[in-house]
This record gives sequence, structure tokens and C-alpha cells, in this order.
Amino acid sequence: MPSVPPFPRASSRTHSSPVYRQRIRHTVPAAGCLAVLLFLIAFGSSTVSAQPADPAEHVSSTEPSTSSLSSPPQTIAFTGGAWYDGTGFVNDPLYIENGRFIAERPASIDTTIALDRHFVVPPFAEAHTHRIDQKGTLEGAVDAYLADGVFYVANLNNIPAFANPLRDTLDRENTVDVALAHGGFTSPGGHPQPLYERLVDRGIYSDWTKEQLAGQAFHAVTNSEELRTAYETIRADEPDLIKAYLMFAETKNASGLTPAVLAELVEMARTDGLRVSVHAQSANDMHIAAEAGAHQIAHMPPMPFQHDDGEKWYLIPDSTAQLLAEREVSVVTTTVLADGFDDGERKERVRSIQRENLSTLHDAGVHLLVGSDTWGTGQNEALYLHGLDVFDNQTLLRLWTDTGRSIFPDRAIGRLAPDHEASLLALTCNPLSDFTCVEKIDLRIKQGYVIELPPQTTSSP
Ligand SMILES: [Zn+2]
Repeated sequence: MPSVPPFPRASSRTHSSPVYRQRIRHTVPAAGCLAVLLFLIAFGSSTVSAQPADPAEHVSSTEPSTSSLSSPPQTIAFTGGAWYDGTGFVNDPLYIENGRFIAERPASIDTTIALDRHFVVPPFAEAHTHRIDQKGTLEGAVDAYLADGVFYVANLNNIPAFANPLRDTLDRENTVDVALAHGGFTSPGGHPQPLYERLVDRGIYSDWTKEQLAGQAFHAVTNSEELRTAYETIRADEPDLIKAYLMFAETKNASGLTPAVLAELVEMARTDGLRVSVHAQSANDMHIAAEAGAHQIAHMPPMPFQHDDGEKWYLIPDSTAQLLAEREVSVVTTTVLADGFDDGERKERVRSIQRENLSTLHDAGVHLLVGSDTWGTGQNEALYLHGLDVFDNQTLLRLWTDTGRSIFPDRAIGRLAPDHEASLLALTCNPLSDFTCVEKIDLRIKQGYVIELPPQTTSSP
């Protein structure tokens, strides 16, 4: 475990003539630690008013979250704090200028933040959810994600008619950044069709009928012609990535896409620069997805509710892990789904397969992404992975803070490094010593803005 260098003491400039002082509201009570104090140093009103783009321009009147932004400082300096560099904590604080990290001290500093005894990490991510999907539940979801330090989210199956209107209020400095897959490609009647029909029965999607789901919540296709028609439909709704389903493909009980149709879909998506995430029910489905050229496996088997088919379906062979690694196919863990399983003996079997699969994939060099496929925030998945005791704290922290870059591969995120987006979390204790420190977030900065949570925000359930 890397040792933590001693903290530098805050310099006197942090308390020179503050004209503005803001208390960061604590989501998690940070007993025994110093509060993080934010000072806006007076440089004269002309300097203070010379802000970057007015945040009011970014926070529209339809802004759903009550999370608020601090005055947007042009430059931020930090004192103290141990900064995570991907392998351990170092003692070289960065600066923030125009929403980016920089290494050199800017000519003038608008704000200095004292981080003594804090551990600074990149924001966390949730690589598999369906939670941010419609207006009614958006505000609570955004607040929960921000409370848990989860800034980057992938919704791997949603209804574009409900989710696309949210785009105006997502992907901003005080909300979460969300990639939407829209309806996944499956077979007629295949998953997720019955699931969505149950949701319609429960009134989850306002006054929608089941007939409205096809072409929105899923795309049922069996051949090339149907695929091309469905693909044009989803393309018009501008997905950020494509979702496809394989359910025991190449068995007599298969549902979802055939391997041939999946391969064709991947080719079409690649032409448009869209990545394809595949729901794989079995280890063999993972292999088929990799052969088809998919970019991501949306679940690591097993799904706990189908474990009765036996370990032979779910244990990932080394040859499959090697293929995934060679073709750079990432795998979303979704292990916490086993928590919903109440049979103790079966749950232990599932956990034992999960441990073995995680080791096989990691040892082969497969990129694992932290994602829960639940209405948690991804923190539940990270803590469940910690409980499986397969990875040491450093490995797990690295996996989680790397996950956001897989969701948004074109952005400079997930690193506390120069030229990267200035987003960070300050923890009150060292997550390499105690992984549960990832829950003890004292300060959140997103793209150079300090996020202030509304009072009584609840984090993960
Ligand atoms: Zn899912």
C-alpha cells in the first residue's frame, strides 16, 4: 500500500481578506475532520466579476436539481490534501483554471480551498443503470448521484420519448453526465419487452400503452431487413451508444439477437461511431459478443435469478477472457444484483462464481467497469465488489475512477492531471486504508464548479 506523504500546512493566503465565504454542506457527517472551507480571495471587484461564461446561461429554468453551484471562480488553488494519481496518493496539488486542471500556479488566484487531511480522488461512475429515464424521478436521482460523487452515468436501456427531453438539463456542471442507449435490440418477445410491459401495467410511464413500447423501449428484429429499419428509427433518436441482447444464443432456448444479426448491428453502429453494449446472459454469450466486435458486455454472468442452469453456463473460460482482452471489450460488473437474491446457499454459489469470473477477467487484462444495474448509484456496486474481496483497495479505486472514461471516451476525465476536466471529490479519510472512505465525501467539484447539495440529500439507499 503506498504511503501517504505528510500534509503541507495551509498557507496564510487562505485567510487573507476573504470577501466571501461559503460552507460546503456535508452529505456524510465527517466526524473528527476539518471542514472544508472555501474562500474567495479579494482581488478587487473587477477581477471577481471577470468570470468565465455566466453559469446562469448553463442552468436553465427547467433545471431539475436543487443542487446549486458556487460562484464560479476563474482560478482555484488548493492547500494540503493528498491527491490520487491512479496508483497512490501524492502531495502535488493542482490548480484549476477555466474548468481544467493545470500544474503551474496561475498569475492570480480567485479561490483557495484548504484540503488538509483530505484525500482527493477523481469522480466515480455508474456504468449500468436505467435510473435517469424520465422527468418525474430525475431530481432525486441527480441529487443521489451527486451525493455519492457519481458524476458519469450510462443508461443502458431507456425510452427516448421520456429520456431525450432530459438532455437539456443533464451534462452540466451541477448535474450528472448521462449516456443514453435508448431501446435495445432483441428478438420479438425477448428481454426487455416483458419487463417494460410490466412497468406499463404499473403506470411507470404515464399513460403509455404496451403498443407504444416497440421502437422506443426495445427494437425486436429477426433479420437484416428488420434490423436496418429499426436502426434508422433509433438513429433518429440520437442514442449515445447501442444496446443489444444475447440470451443463451446458440442454444435451443435462445432469445435476443442471433449472432449474425448482432454482428451486422455492430458494423452499422461502428460506421456511425457508436459503441455497442451487449447484455450477455452466459459466458458463451460474452464470447459471441466479442467475436461480433461489440465494445462492452453489460453484465458479468451470472444473473442470480438463472443460476439453476449451473456453473457451466456462467464460469468464464480463459479463452473467452483472452478474446475480450485482445479485442478490448470491457465488462460491466453488476455483481450487486446478487444481493436481491434471498436464498443464502444459492447466493453463496453466485458469489463464488462472481469471484472466480472477476479474477479470470482481471488476470487476462479485461477492463472492468463498475456498474450496478440497480436504482443505487454505483456506490452499492463498488461496496459489494469490495465485500467480495477479490481486489485490493487500490485496484478497486482505480477501476471505479476509470469507469467514467469508458462511458465518455472522448473526454479528458477520470484523472487528476493537467489538461483534464477539473472534477474531483475530497474524502475525509484514505480509501486505500479503508475502502468505505469512498462514502465520506466532503467536497465535490465538477468542471471547476463547487457543487453544493441541497440539505438532507440522501445518498445511496
Ligand atoms: Zn440493465
